[in-house]
Amino acid sequence: MTAPLIRLQGICRDYPSGDEVLHVLRDIDLEIAQGEYVAVIGASGSGKSTLMNILGCLDRPSSGSYLLDGREVARLDPGELAALRREFFGFIFQRYHLLSEMTALGNVEVPAIYRGLSAEARRRKARGILDRLGMGERLDHRPGQLSGGQQQRVSIARALVNDARVILADEPTGALDSRSGEEVLAILDELNAEGRTVVIVTHDPKVAARARRVIEIADGRIVADRRGDAAAAPPPLATTAPARAAAPVLGRLAEALRMAVLAMRAHKLRSFLTMLGIIIGIASVVSVVALGEGSRQRVLSNISGLGTNTLQIYPGRDFGDMRSGRVTTLVMADAHALARQSYVASVSPTVSSSQTLRHGATELSAQISGVGEQYFDVAGITLTEGRAFDAGDVAAMSQGVVIDENTRSSLFGEGAPALGQVFMAGKVPLRVIGVAKVRQQGPGGSRNLTVYAPYTTVQARYLGTTSVSGLTLRVQDATDMALAEQSVTELLTRRHGTKDFFTINNDEIRQTITATTQTLTLLISAIAVISLLVGGIGVMNIMLVSVTERIGEIGLRMAVGARRADIRAQFLIEAVLVCIIGGVAGILAALGFGLVFERFSSDFTLVYSVLSMVAALVSSCGIGLVFGYLPAVSAARLDPVAALARD
Ligand code: ADP
Ligand code: MG
Repeated sequence: MTAPLIRLQGICRDYPSGDEVLHVLRDIDLEIAQGEYVAVIGASGSGKSTLMNILGCLDRPSSGSYLLDGREVARLDPGELAALRREFFGFIFQRYHLLSEMTALGNVEVPAIYRGLSAEARRRKARGILDRLGMGERLDHRPGQLSGGQQQRVSIARALVNDARVILADEPTGALDSRSGEEVLAILDELNAEGRTVVIVTHDPKVAARARRVIEIADGRIVADRRGDAAAAPPPLATTAPARAAAPVLGRLAEALRMAVLAMRAHKLRSFLTMLGIIIGIASVVSVVALGEGSRQRVLSNISGLGTNTLQIYPGRDFGDMRSGRVTTLVMADAHALARQSYVASVSPTVSSSQTLRHGATELSAQISGVGEQYFDVAGITLTEGRAFDAGDVAAMSQGVVIDENTRSSLFGEGAPALGQVFMAGKVPLRVIGVAKVRQQGPGGSRNLTVYAPYTTVQARYLGTTSVSGLTLRVQDATDMALAEQSVTELLTRRHGTKDFFTINNDEIRQTITATTQTLTLLISAIAVISLLVGGIGVMNIMLVSVTERIGEIGLRMAVGARRADIRAQFLIEAVLVCIIGGVAGILAALGFGLVFERFSSDFTLVYSVLSMVAALVSSCGIGLVFGYLPAVSAARLDPVAALARD
């Protein structure tokens, strides 16, 4: 006689229960040979399911020895136990334990996925078995669309898909009407006739009568072991060598991805809410970076027309000095003195005055900008019509002026000729000799009306003073800007007796603007990172809830042979997927925000950087990994028996 397939010796299973210990199985000795058909009967609570779970390597005994096919089960590691559950045993449960979001075919395929069978091979196999069990017409039905008997047949097919040698059925007919029950039992008879070992738990003596051996359990002990006619021992089972897929790990990962998508689809609203934190975080990071870059580029392009070798001098101590309007010490004589310096190429004073313009019945208020003849060059202003005034005009305090396009259309009407027209500015008549392009300056700035007149004219006709509101200095090309700035400061301080002015060069402006936008971007990005962190914690929270909610699913997956790594990968991939989809949605939201923004603000655009988007995606992926890890690990640590019992 050959060694038994299953040999239990002195198996005990205790559960701590308060201060006492509950002895559920006591000293069980049992041998089951290959090809037997065994029924285990006993009252409810006698320990039948506990015995079954130990047989199927779902549970470990508290003491005793379990030799399976000659190997001591207690010495196997979790991976080897998973392999046994996957390829040696096939479980059939009273309540089927099908995954509700998968089709019949999908459910049957699950153990084959964990075994690493290629998609094509396992589909063929699953379909064949379902066909044989009379479910060929119902492949694409979900468990909810099947009757109890049909669901149980799907679960039998699942137990068979990996060619299990031992079928363990725990009350397989307990939830079925007598006819469906009869059909299920007929299938089990057939499986045994093929050579498979069948162990069935039941409390129904009629069911037990079909088996060739009946073991009765009471209070955790075997009280009877009856053998019927030892008729025709079934033929030995033809075991097929498992056909492995070429890249089982990759295939299993792809399956985990598919299952993650299924799980997300099953809970659309919850997945969306989980993502929301990530979406908001990513959208704000990407738009803030784009906003900062857009404003930086616009301001820089505004001042780039000025060139790098110009220096501005203003009265007062610094920008925003309240007294600067009253400081009148910066005068034309300073400009002349500066113009005589060897390092100065040209000096252009600026003065200004607000005046009411009149032409016909039209009245407008505008800014009269008194400038020198080089101003247009230095400030990078281009004319669309006519000409600018020259040194002669400035010396003669000419009343020929350049108006910008806004002023032209407001004063003379859209498209009307402006050159040569005369209008009143305050009490002084001015004649248009040129039209300048609008200079964009800050939000709303483009709608200002500006009239450029020689500064001499503005001083003489409007201000009655020789003080200026600023000097624009162009430094000789070869001169070092810092040195020039220092010399100018020394010269003017000497002339005024005190430093009641300040200088600023374009390089400084550029640097200040860049630094300011960088600081702002950093600051807001920090806030966005915090929101991403909060989003990540949200993901973790919901994933933990999801693990608790799907505990039955996890138990089932482990019962059909999922490794811990499979369960971990499934939940980790789900978390990463949620975050990546959230990241992509966040980027799209940021782009959408840009479109809306451009619609409402003509002179400002968002400049998106690919780098920030890539960084956003990478970080959302990282968030998924970091915050999905804990839920995934806690799912993989679940005890399969406890997980199944909780369903
Ligand atoms: P049966 O399947 O024969 O109805 P079980 O094997 O399910 O019985 O349970 C046998 C006994 O073990 C019951 O009294 C049950 O309360 C107890 N039991 C089962 N699982 C646990 C557990 N995880 N913790 C404590 N007691 C348990
Ligand atoms: Mg039970």
